Amino acid sequence: MHRKEQAIAPVLEIHLGVNVTVPSGFNTDAFGTFTNDIKRPADQLTTARLKAEAALRHTGETLAIASEGSFGPHPQIPFVACDRELVLLCDRQHQLEIVGEYVSTETNYRSQVIHSPAEALAFAESVGFPQHGLVIKGGEANRILGKGITEVDKLLALVEQALDQSPQPNVHIETDMRALYNPTRMAIITQATEDLVRAIALSCPSCNCPGFSLVKQFPGLPCSLCGTPTLLTLARLYRCQRCQFEQRLPGDHGFSAADPSYCPYCNP
Ligand SMILES: [Zn+2]
Ligand SMILES: [Zn+2]
Repeated sequence: MHRKEQAIAPVLEIHLGVNVTVPSGFNTDAFGTFTNDIKRPADQLTTARLKAEAALRHTGETLAIASEGSFGPHPQIPFVACDRELVLLCDRQHQLEIVGEYVSTETNYRSQVIHSPAEALAFAESVGFPQHGLVIKGGEANRILGKGITEVDKLLALVEQALDQSPQPNVHIETDMRALYNPTRMAIITQATEDLVRAIALSCPSCNCPGFSLVKQFPGLPCSLCGTPTLLTLARLYRCQRCQFEQRLPGDHGFSAADPSYCPYCNP
């Protein structure tokens, strides 16, 4: 419903030679929305799986792709917002589920209380409006007054109406995180799709099944100055979903030590 196929389909068509179609009349909003008017039924990965399974039932096909994003504090840098995007492939014919993931701090995910149209405009400018859409919430129950806002006239009209009606300070302006209103997010979905292609291409060293997958990461990459373990990844554990063969591979892009800026001792 949010045109994510624009970010996903070209990558899959080039690398997998599949023909990607979007099922018609398929309501993905039933699986949760970012504006919280509909809650997500489960965690991010499970929700992506539920979407893929529903698409298979809906179309009668055997191969589905689903994507799911989540926004929040970065797992290692709590005061920095991040976007975690998953793109999942579900293959009924071969009984495979393979997941691509990309975590990026490149996001305009933000929300703010506003007291004037000028504050709304300053917020809008700081988050890449009008290429990126906005949401306005206000009133007694802080309900959504407008979303997908990409025109300055509409933004100002809604803000003025909200400020008139709402007990202050209760007017919120937020970035609209739906992919079609958020080109920054679209680009990260493309990255997650490329990760999916990489994950599919990685086959089990023991049985050759595609999708030899990352199942666990071990932090503790040592600081290059003092050797103290950092939160960066020291090693990654991969497992085959068919034969359960496991392999431990080095973490973080093959670096053997962490930059001291990540060190709890050198840079507390
Ligand atoms: Zn295997
Ligand atoms: Zn150090």
